[in-house]
Amino acid sequence: MASIRARLTGAYAITMVATVAALGTVLYAAQQSDRARQLTRQAHEDADLAVRIVGRVAATGEPVTATSDPLLGSSSEAIHVVTPALRNVLEGLPDYVLVLDSGGRTLYNSFAVRQLDADDQVQLSRLAIAMSASAPAHPVRLSDRELLLAVNATVPGGTAVARVVAGVDLASVDPGPTDLRTSALVLAPLVVLLSMVGAYVIAGRAFRPVDIIINEVQAISDGRSLHRRLAVDGAGDELMRLNQTLNEMIARLETSFGALRRFTADASHELKTPLTVLRADVERAMSAPPQSTEQMIALEEALQETRRMADLVDSLLTLARADEGRFDVVREPVALEPLVREVFESAVILGEDAGLIVSMPVVEAATVLGDAPRLRQLCMNLVMNAVKYTPRGGRIDVSLSHRLDGVTFSVRDTGVGIAATDLPHIFERFWRADRVRSRGSERGGFGLGLAISQWIAQAHGGSITATSRLGRGSIFTVHLPGVGEGTGAAVELVPSGMSGPTVTGI
Ligand code: ADP
Repeated sequence: MASIRARLTGAYAITMVATVAALGTVLYAAQQSDRARQLTRQAHEDADLAVRIVGRVAATGEPVTATSDPLLGSSSEAIHVVTPALRNVLEGLPDYVLVLDSGGRTLYNSFAVRQLDADDQVQLSRLAIAMSASAPAHPVRLSDRELLLAVNATVPGGTAVARVVAGVDLASVDPGPTDLRTSALVLAPLVVLLSMVGAYVIAGRAFRPVDIIINEVQAISDGRSLHRRLAVDGAGDELMRLNQTLNEMIARLETSFGALRRFTADASHELKTPLTVLRADVERAMSAPPQSTEQMIALEEALQETRRMADLVDSLLTLARADEGRFDVVREPVALEPLVREVFESAVILGEDAGLIVSMPVVEAATVLGDAPRLRQLCMNLVMNAVKYTPRGGRIDVSLSHRLDGVTFSVRDTGVGIAATDLPHIFERFWRADRVRSRGSERGGFGLGLAISQWIAQAHGGSITATSRLGRGSIFTVHLPGVGEGTGAAVELVPSGMSGPTVTGI
């Protein structure tokens, strides 16, 4: 899902595009209507001016029209045109001007009209005759241009002139709009892009304090830093209130987590002594003769359950103390090779009983800084799990390798494997796949072994990963920072937080 920052930028961009488009459309429409008004006015002005010129000539008593061929005189074939004097004056008019008599004959065509091709001239004359005197300006499409025509029929009486029609070329006025459109088309995307960048930067700045809060809360919520609090500055804004609220919540969490840990630690601690006494009593009772078989079976069961309970209490105490940070992990060089060989030998013995082949294909010299008993516990947990969860006839491979990036201990088995949906949970406390079945069986652990193994790996600055496939087997790999002749690197043994282990399917 996109971040709020990206979504804000997107929303801003959409708004910006819509605004620019709306503004552009309105401006364009306004400009077009202004242009139409300007053209209409110009056409009417041309027609009015021509009428005024004709009127002025008529007022002086001079003739307005004459026959084009003096020999024809006033016969019906004579073609009437405006007098040369009037023609000279009319020639000064720009645009398309047609002067017509009452019979619809053309008395004068302006220079622009004469430049049109013959068809266009005929079409224009026809339209000029047909146009109603009261009609508003009227657009006309010719072969290669469009004109806006206006008519004026208020010519003073006593002349042959009945109407003047003037036209202006629609393309003649203000070539600006094309330029404006081009620049708008180029500039608009630039403006939108710039505003998007601006919005992204502004949103980033606005959300930076939120990012800081998220990082701080993440650091605090690892379960061991609940004593830390978020900084509350005096800005008095929403973020300050959020920090205050989060601090209150963290304080409440700290109290309840502390109480829970103390309870677990105290209860486990208190249970240790009675369990030890109970175990000693059962063992003494078992060794006291004479015993009936039923009594022996009952005592054997009691001893087994007491051992299990003692193991559980031990594990709980380990984890409770680890949570409270009360477990000191010794930091001294530990040679892992002999330790792993010991674990391997135990695995061979356990494997023999369980009908498994246990081998150690790779074992390299490696030294880590740490706590030998805890590291042994970690290796044993993994090996014992492999034995527990691998059916007869299976194989277990234990290996230890030392590379530049650290030391790797791994246990691979061909056992029952772990379903992909279960894999993310295996390091959780008290989590077991198929709880019901494993409780009664010899596999019946408590689901704490891997949680403890994970804690030990992390307390050594390392990590534990699991790869598995149901029915095919599993590989558990522990990665620890090494100290060796080759690296000589200083290793920090600070627990690396409770970040989750890596789990993948094979
Ligand atoms: P448990 O005491 O139940 O073994 P763990 O914490 O050691 O507890 O293991 C948790 C669960 O992870 C086990 O119940 C089992 O379902 C699964 N698991 C651990 N190791 C293996 C393995 N090698 N093969 C298959 N499943 C395993």
